[in-house]
Amino acid sequence: NADLAELDPEIAAKIDDELGRQRSGLEMIASENHTAAAVMQAQGSVLTNKYAEGYPGKRYYGGCEHVDVIEQLAIDRVKALFGAEYANVQPHSGAQANASVMHALIKPGDTIMGLNLAHGGHLTHGMRINFSGRLYNVIPYQVREEDHRIDMAEVERLAQEHKPQLIVAGWSAYARQLDFAEFRRIADSVGAYLMVDMAHFAGLVAAGLHPSPVPHAHVTTSTTHKTLAGPRGGIILTNDADVAKKINSAVFPGQQGGPLEHVIAGKAVAFKIAASPEFKERQERVLAGARILADRLVQPDVTAKRISVVSGGTDVHLVLVDLRNCELDGQQAEDRLAEIDITVNRNAVPFDPRPPMVTSGLRIGTPALATRGFGEAAFAEVADIIAEALIADAGADLSGLRHRVEALAEAHPLYPSVQDLAAA
Ligand code: PLP
Repeated sequence: NADLAELDPEIAAKIDDELGRQRSGLEMIASENHTAAAVMQAQGSVLTNKYAEGYPGKRYYGGCEHVDVIEQLAIDRVKALFGAEYANVQPHSGAQANASVMHALIKPGDTIMGLNLAHGGHLTHGMRINFSGRLYNVIPYQVREEDHRIDMAEVERLAQEHKPQLIVAGWSAYARQLDFAEFRRIADSVGAYLMVDMAHFAGLVAAGLHPSPVPHAHVTTSTTHKTLAGPRGGIILTNDADVAKKINSAVFPGQQGGPLEHVIAGKAVAFKIAASPEFKERQERVLAGARILADRLVQPDVTAKRISVVSGGTDVHLVLVDLRNCELDGQQAEDRLAEIDITVNRNAVPFDPRPPMVTSGLRIGTPALATRGFGEAAFAEVADIIAEALIADAGADLSGLRHRVEALAEAHPLYPSVQDLAAA
């Protein structure tokens, strides 16, 4: 019964280091967040010991009376949060949620359409070596070169030509809202299912600050750890009883064995938080922060010749920075910001001339900083720091910028009530 620091000091020390890294730097990876301490408490609980194959009230194991209540609460809360009639909260991840939907609704060899990975789609939307690209015939659609928006006329043309069984709408790196009603109209016109993957923007939908795909899609999937700010995991929502039944058997036993009830408890806590007025206020700061970044990174006479923003702005929680005219490629820009303790990820821009490991872009998101309490003034300061870092000469002294980052981190303490593990 030794505690972690005693039993395994190497792991305890690295967890402590990671807490220190998150506290002292600024997390701007668009798919990340700082989940609530209460979520981590639920996740680090004895629920991890429990096998519960099946669903609440219909388990293949004894002793499920408490986890049944927990899972049912998670289901009821997420249904209320998104206005869905049916929910499955068991997918271990976003990728498994998407795999389960495809497993439920289509068969290997069928045709799917999804946003091209190089234009902002996700691996599970049809990337060649992902399960989705290996099992299904993938017809990718893309964004227009002029305005970097999804070309719905092209989506319709491709759908008419290839008659897919499933159309996926959703993205990992796209700064604009999708037209869910139009996607559904196109899906219906060819008899396809519409799956919307709202992993990135689910928190905005929960807060009522982004249109909901749930009334339009046959099925909506999400992760729970991005803007939604819960534990790492996935969910599947639908309003169709028949689809719901197929999805439940595709998740278990189709894709998974025992559900992670400790994670499901964390999801339940996160859904409760996401229904609160404080969460809505936080998501408002997420959006304001992204707009401030999009404006301030591209300043006439300062950065505009070298930096631009894909699609000219943002409607969501992230900005895609286009570095094609900058001295730095995506990798160098990511490294440059890492030097001043700002964590972002390099990302391909549409029609990127550079290879995927290098890229000509950065994806910068605001959810984690909004969770830390950043408001408009702090986002303006971080935007200016990033702009100055990206246009600094090679070898320039970045210590002034690093100090400004430090000041922002100190002014927005992270997990003030969580003890350093090594010290505990
Ligand atoms: N769907 C989208 C749109 C994503 O961006 C991601 C993750 O980045 C996923 C699904 C996969 O989620 P996970 O990493 O939990 O498998």
